[in-house]
Amino acid sequence: MNSVRPSCERLDALSPYDPKYLPATCLLSANENPHDVPKEVRTEINRRLKTMSFNRYPDPLANGLRDKIAEANGLERENVLVGNGGDELLFNIALAWGGPDRTFLNVPPTFSVYEQNARLTGTRVVNVARREDYTIDEDAVLTRVAEGDIDYLIVASPNNPTGKLADEGFLLELLDATDALVMVDEAYFEFSRMTMRPYLAQHRNLVILRTFSKAFSLAGVRLGYILGNADVITQFIKVRQPYSVDAVSQTIAEAVYENRASFERGIVSIIEERTRLVDELSKLPEIKAYPSDANYILFRAEGAPSVWQGLYDRGILVRDFSGAEHLTDCLRVTVGSPDENDRFLMELKQILIERRRA
Ligand code: PMP
Repeated sequence: MNSVRPSCERLDALSPYDPKYLPATCLLSANENPHDVPKEVRTEINRRLKTMSFNRYPDPLANGLRDKIAEANGLERENVLVGNGGDELLFNIALAWGGPDRTFLNVPPTFSVYEQNARLTGTRVVNVARREDYTIDEDAVLTRVAEGDIDYLIVASPNNPTGKLADEGFLLELLDATDALVMVDEAYFEFSRMTMRPYLAQHRNLVILRTFSKAFSLAGVRLGYILGNADVITQFIKVRQPYSVDAVSQTIAEAVYENRASFERGIVSIIEERTRLVDELSKLPEIKAYPSDANYILFRAEGAPSVWQGLYDRGILVRDFSGAEHLTDCLRVTVGSPDENDRFLMELKQILIERRRA
């Protein structure tokens, strides 16, 4: 037969996630770490990879890595689960807590993957938009959860792409107000140093997401994890792919995690550069920069697509959100190395000078 019947109907309204990657000499679009894994850690990784058995299946649950993460967070193995990037665990929450006849509460603008996964699993999406300054409309969220039909929520803290932490008092109020599963996405935790970890014991409905992709320079390896109560973790285990975290990734992530102190200097540099970038952007009259607790900065510029193009023509790739809902005229720049940030600022200033002349 030279035809194929249509796929599942809900795919019709979906398009694949697109990180909008384009080649450039200065990559400031994907919130990656500008510093690769430190040399001494790379040497240790290479040493361990040399003795690996590629013919054997990996430990399905990556228990060696789970134990290390648990210990560092004062938890037990059953409170931790690793995934093929945070992305896999974001898919798993939609599989386990979403589905037809179930409801997800989203606080846009935020990481678009949350809503995409909900739609993919046939989950109803209730959007409670953020305020104009991108803070969460806390009263509106609390009022909406009081209706009792929300099955899960995801709050990114710091939020991507807007940059700021959620208020801790609000998150605690939310956890008290609902029995929905509340995922606090702490993908950028190491740059904000704020975590909901202390509240796991009191709140069975709290689960925390973290990743190795940002602070630990492993975006290319795909390793994320959740911290949660054991009964929540058990449900995630039921829906996950058995061998989603391959043996190479487990080995690399273990070496990196054991040596995580080596990443500290890079993290501090990113935090310092973030302050410098916000200060410099704030001096430009055409730009409104939003303060950030993460490794990126959202900024608004009239005619954002032409600013994006101007930067790209000069070899600098930033992320254009100007076509997205709630993000008119917004671009997001990842905090790069000091040299990359200098280059970004210099070219941006040049573009603005040329625009003033035109
Ligand atoms: N959460 C947020 C808020 C993110 O920005 C990202 C990465 N863009 C992720 C989760 C997932 O990261 P990864 O799959 O690389 O672990």
